[in-house]
Amino acid sequence: MDMSRRALLKVIVLGDIGVGKTSLMNQYVYKKFSQQYKSTIGADFVTKELQIDDKLVTLQIWDTAGQERFQSLGSAFYRGADCCVLVYDVNIQKSFETLNNWHEEFVKQAADPADPGAFPFILFGNKIDVDGGSSRVVSEKKAREWCASRGDIPYFETSAKEGYNVHEAFLCVAKMALEG
Ligand code: GDP
Ligand code: MG
Repeated sequence: MDMSRRALLKVIVLGDIGVGKTSLMNQYVYKKFSQQYKSTIGADFVTKELQIDDKLVTLQIWDTAGQERFQSLGSAFYRGADCCVLVYDVNIQKSFETLNNWHEEFVKQAADPADPGAFPFILFGNKIDVDGGSSRVVSEKKAREWCASRGDIPYFETSAKEGYNVHEAFLCVAKMALEG
């Protein structure tokens, strides 16, 4: 295959512990969901191949191994990232508020400091399935306002448990990463 039609893109997934980062990746790549909470150990990333127009794209999706608790992920984690996925839990206010810190941390570590608005971010509001939506505390409107205030970040509401919107959201990630 013509190598110009191939792309290896690095995606990093950030957000508070427990919001469902690992579950979203597992649902997307392996179509699997586990109720059990297993703090990620070992593997730094998973890969997923997909076709976008005439390009064969390999997404290298980087997960955190519980270090998100301490917000000390190290520069290797951020280096060369093509897209940053921010995740919060729509049922937990704190995980929404912390998005400011994650966004800021990423901009500091990896985005072009001269033009942070140019870096492709995307936001996932996860766990929309919980209690049929009745325990939700962050509205879609609030989330979209936050996205608008950060330079029109695309927003997807997801459920890693039900697989809802997961493919659509990661397809957007791949397109954004490809465009740069
Ligand atoms: P991480 O720390 O951000 O990687 O979060 P995990 O992916 O490990 O998920 C934390 C917990 O939330 C686990 O018990 C998952 O089973 C659960 N979880 C993750 N995504 C969802 C979801 O969309 N809906 C529901 N109901 N539970 C979820
Ligand atoms: Mg995890």
